[in-house]
Amino acid sequence: MRDFALPIRRIGSLGRSTGSALPLEVGVDIHERLQMRLSSEDSSYRSEIPLSLALTGKSYEFKIRGRCDGEFGGDKPMIEEIKSSFGLPALKKALANEPDHPYILQLKMYGFIYSKKKGVTPKLQLRLVDSRTLEEDVWSVDYDEIGFQLWVQDRLAQIEENLLRYRALIKTRKSLAKQLFFPFSTPRKNQSELVDAVKNSLSRGRKLLLQAPTGLGKTAGVLYPSLLEALSKGSPVVYIAPKNSQFKAAIDLARMFQKKRVKLKVLVLTSKTKACQQDEVLCQNSSCPLAVNYYDKVEASGAKLRDAKKHLWDYAYFQKLSDAFEICPYEIGMERIPEADLIICDYNYVFSPRANFFDRYLDPIVPMTKPYLVIDEAHNLYERVIENYSVQIKLSDLKAFLEHCKASDDQRFSRIVNRAIGLMAAINPRPTHARIELKREAIQVLLDESMALLLSRWDTGGLPLIDDPVFQFYSQWSDLHEITEISQEAIPLIYKREEGDEILKAQCIDPHSILQPLYAQFAGVVAFSATLKPFSFYRHMSGFEEEATDAIEFTSPFPRTNKKIMIIPQVETNYRERSRHYDRIAAIISRVASLEKGPYLVFFSSYGFLREVEKLLGEDFPLITQTSALSDSAVRNFHRLIQNAQETTLILAVQGGSLSEGIDFKGAGIKGVFIVGPAVPSASFERKMMQEHFDKREGDGRAFAYVYPAMTRSVQAAGRIVRDEIERGVIVLMDPRFLQDSFQATMPEDWFETSARELIPQHILSETRAFWDVEKRPSIESDEGPLDL
Ligand code: SF4
Repeated sequence: MRDFALPIRRIGSLGRSTGSALPLEVGVDIHERLQMRLSSEDSSYRSEIPLSLALTGKSYEFKIRGRCDGEFGGDKPMIEEIKSSFGLPALKKALANEPDHPYILQLKMYGFIYSKKKGVTPKLQLRLVDSRTLEEDVWSVDYDEIGFQLWVQDRLAQIEENLLRYRALIKTRKSLAKQLFFPFSTPRKNQSELVDAVKNSLSRGRKLLLQAPTGLGKTAGVLYPSLLEALSKGSPVVYIAPKNSQFKAAIDLARMFQKKRVKLKVLVLTSKTKACQQDEVLCQNSSCPLAVNYYDKVEASGAKLRDAKKHLWDYAYFQKLSDAFEICPYEIGMERIPEADLIICDYNYVFSPRANFFDRYLDPIVPMTKPYLVIDEAHNLYERVIENYSVQIKLSDLKAFLEHCKASDDQRFSRIVNRAIGLMAAINPRPTHARIELKREAIQVLLDESMALLLSRWDTGGLPLIDDPVFQFYSQWSDLHEITEISQEAIPLIYKREEGDEILKAQCIDPHSILQPLYAQFAGVVAFSATLKPFSFYRHMSGFEEEATDAIEFTSPFPRTNKKIMIIPQVETNYRERSRHYDRIAAIISRVASLEKGPYLVFFSSYGFLREVEKLLGEDFPLITQTSALSDSAVRNFHRLIQNAQETTLILAVQGGSLSEGIDFKGAGIKGVFIVGPAVPSASFERKMMQEHFDKREGDGRAFAYVYPAMTRSVQAAGRIVRDEIERGVIVLMDPRFLQDSFQATMPEDWFETSARELIPQHILSETRAFWDVEKRPSIESDEGPLDL
């Protein structure tokens, strides 16, 4: 009923997107108490009256169902709906000004069904209740049966129009599928097999985990068959990547289709904070001029806004529309979700606790086909989910709230904050780190009290004051409460003392049970990356079920002889031993790099390690050093510097940083990559919990918590070179751990035949020299003398 009884034209402003879930239970509670009281006061009163009606439109039959809040019987029956609000004056004003307010329409619709079913037209009233004071008011609604019948017909016609439009959209998609073509005249080596593998898994309803290296044309190899499968079923594809800068390959591919007249509608979504040009993202009528009268402005702009010829809807396009019509650019983008054939967006649109993709994609009345999901750079997914589903509350933040209370003499909030501090103080015993259990009721009391305080302060428009510290306090505890409710095993609660602070933290250690149910919303899922080994690890961490998932590895299409991979086990890089090896590391880098002119990338496990070796690299070659995380523009600058390097240049960076993944150095002529030890995560309490968890589950906690995450970084970094068929380069991995089984299990299939031991060189320099000079056979260590290993 609620979905049917909506205004035919949306009017007014954007409003309640505050980022905080409203506590629905408040309204339910008020309803129930009122209904009980009314039954005790009036014997003719009945609550929760089921009402339903079948209606016939031009092309469809409809069944409308609902439960009216109450009926007063007798000769002149009356039905009513109860509506509670935090801002009663604002609600009354809206009811007075909007004859098609959803509350009024809903009530009239009940009246309409009631009179059809019972042959008597009831009186209608809204019982309005102030959620703070419980003060009541009754609002009579005039009802004109004939006039409303016309409204019902119009609404049915509108829904039928939507249904027909959606049917046409499905038809268009199916015909687009027939026009779709493989975008290159000749597929690259193995690319046809890649396309077939995707088609095969999707058509059998299986999920696919796909490891494919650079050079295979994997975006086209995955996206083309995914679009083919999805469009032929009338569905769109949702393509997600961890960074906006990684959307380019998908956008380029879509443009290739569009240029050849395959009119795919492509929507590229950026994050709300990036799309929003306001100083603060406060999507309230009172705060943002682009929210004010949003729907009226959209309606007034009409066809100009819905430029049918445009087929690539991106941030620049939304910004232009926003400037032209003074409307929110983020909202315009979100409204396009149901009509787009290909939606390109960040992981968070699908996988964050507040993800709202499906709120916009699904229509409560029109049955939509399920979209297909393509996850690019999928090795990043599990870490993003761990990050999104871990929240913490610091004692120092609580103390800051107390300071605020003191300054503003806010005794009521001060009592609530003190209760929270007491909750942390009561954790017993008080070790440095511990997994704890906190009574959920104790957190619920904090939530109830802070919500009650918040309600008493909400503005008359019924909206929360987002910058109110009480609101921030409530949001923190509510996030903690909600996240720990998902699974105590996958997201345990911990207490830790760190850097003079005390922290209560919900720490996600296993994202499987969070991700797995989310895939039910998709018709098919493909996750791909150059590093997804071992598959058992990524299958679990990506939330895929073993029995319903295919996992396939493709090897590089370039000749194996274009790469010289060496493992130097004589060099130890673990924290305890590495200082004894700094000289050797510097010597290997310098001497290997001296054998062939060009840029070399040297990836360390940490900045501290980098700085120590940097001091010893001397002045033989220019050094370019990455000193911290880089912005996208800084990465582009680095790229230019590397490309312009004429002589041998060493670029020092860290594994897992912006220069080691997600960047294509194709054409930069990079001659080699040094991986100075695996970047094993440091042994925090959280990591140890993860290790224990996977020891119990998979029997190999160390590999799950330390080895595989580290090796993903090393293999990603190693993949920065040999990006086309003519590039050649050396990869040098330094550390004996690279020979261990769990480390080897992550390496691409074409690195060695049967064991990583094959990669240990007898003579580093002469073998490297021979690699560069294929005519020269390795014989002696080198002209410069043997390396002291
Ligand atoms: S422009 Fe920004 S603040 Fe305004 S409604 Fe849009 S997202 Fe919210």
